[in-house]
Amino acid sequence: MPIAYCEECDWSRRVEDDADGELNRVMICHHVETGHSVEQRELRESDRELES
Ligand SMILES: [Zn+2]
Repeated sequence: MPIAYCEECDWSRRVEDDADGELNRVMICHHVETGHSVEQRELRESDRELES
């Protein structure tokens, strides 16, 4: 489960499966709109527990 997040604001986007490249598109979109640098990483099971 990949997640994209912004280091400069609270923006983030998570997808179950990035097979269609959706995450990459929204990352580019946020960068174009805001000029922020967006990071991407794999969300681990341990990270999900912290959110709940
Ligand atoms: Zn941002």
